[in-house]
Amino acid sequence: MKQVKQRTLLIYILLLLFLAGLVLYSVRYAVLSGRWASFPGNAGAFDDGVPVLGQIVDRNGEILFDAATGSYSDDGTLRRATLHAVGDTARNISTSALQNFEKQLLNYNPVTGINGGGGRVYLTLDSRLQTAAYEALDGAKGTIGVYNYQTGEILCMVSTPAFDPADPPEIADGDSRYDGVYLNRFLSSTFTPGSVFKVVTAAAALEKLEGVTDRTFRCTGSVDIDGDTITCPYVHGTMDFYEAMANSCNCVFAQLAVELGGETMEQYARAAGLLEGHTVSGIATAAGAYAVSTANSEVGWSGVGQYEDLVNPCTLMTMMGAIAGRGSAREPYLLEKVTSLGTDLTHATGSAGKMQLWTRDTCDTLAQMLRNNVTETYGQSRFDDLPVCAKSGTAEVGQGKAPHSWFAGFVDSDTLPLAFVALVENGGGGSAVAGSAAAQVLRTAAEIL
Ligand SMILES: [Zn+2]
Repeated sequence: MKQVKQRTLLIYILLLLFLAGLVLYSVRYAVLSGRWASFPGNAGAFDDGVPVLGQIVDRNGEILFDAATGSYSDDGTLRRATLHAVGDTARNISTSALQNFEKQLLNYNPVTGINGGGGRVYLTLDSRLQTAAYEALDGAKGTIGVYNYQTGEILCMVSTPAFDPADPPEIADGDSRYDGVYLNRFLSSTFTPGSVFKVVTAAAALEKLEGVTDRTFRCTGSVDIDGDTITCPYVHGTMDFYEAMANSCNCVFAQLAVELGGETMEQYARAAGLLEGHTVSGIATAAGAYAVSTANSEVGWSGVGQYEDLVNPCTLMTMMGAIAGRGSAREPYLLEKVTSLGTDLTHATGSAGKMQLWTRDTCDTLAQMLRNNVTETYGQSRFDDLPVCAKSGTAEVGQGKAPHSWFAGFVDSDTLPLAFVALVENGGGGSAVAGSAAAQVLRTAAEIL
């Protein structure tokens, strides 16, 4: 009898272990099988690390990449314009859809596996705006981004230089034509902001310096701050706070920054989200920088977007969207939805979170200032009848190089709620160069959206 009891116990133990193993396997299968299937070593789903199932399409369903045939769009300009968004088959562009939305391309699910024929991955981008932005950059290095600040959809995200992913060139080390070609400048780079950063200085001044909008300022063309001279391109004379912004007066904004102090300036740059990395549909963006200096002259330079200030174009665009939203805006996202190629199942990927900026009053005043910049300085006619609010920047980058040209802002309208950023590296004057590129893209947006 004793032996029988022992055997029964042993069988029970074995049975329990078997059941425990089965449970563990099922749990791991449910949790991890998607990752196993989308592991680039899975020969049924990948060829040399590139998915062989699914399609990448724009918001209107226009095919940008068909993974089953490994082919891109027939339109050569569109292929270059969407290189960084879609990716290359040599897997050099790490922030691309090909490398970040693999799971969605395979459209794996634990019941049907990857046999559904893959997924149609809809990006939020509009091919026509991509092409317009690529053409507006006109061979220069830089980036243009446009997004809907009420929904968060990124409608345009172009980075140059680019190449044709259907016919990738041999790129020799140090070939300046392809400088940083694998980087998506919009998401992954930071640049000296120059005068676009005056918007941050203005926000801090509006909230921390009571009565700043009632002050009268005077520019004599230069100001001495602790032995360092900060200059303007010419004498701006007497002006109020709005005119100081429209003139982009370095003397005024450098002195305001000194009055505010480096700590406060840092606090406002941080509140604008400029100092942190963010994610766009899971893809990381680069963090900007603001160094707090104890030297007044350096604080002065930081207030006009020089010194050690750095911003990421996507984050700057989001800040502009939040000013447009009078203190809050949707964060930008890139992955619109995934539909199954085999069935009609749609998997919504949802919008992003909300970002909060400075107070409604502050954003309202900033919006008026940015609108005044366009009507008084940049010229409304460039934007047809769009109520554009913007700030230009001409960022000195030293070493005898031409400055970076910036133009960032938003359309203050519920019918076309777009925020934008344009950057032309070493392009020269902000309003003239980046401003013209931005205007070209916005006019296209007004036509097609
Ligand atoms: Zn001035």
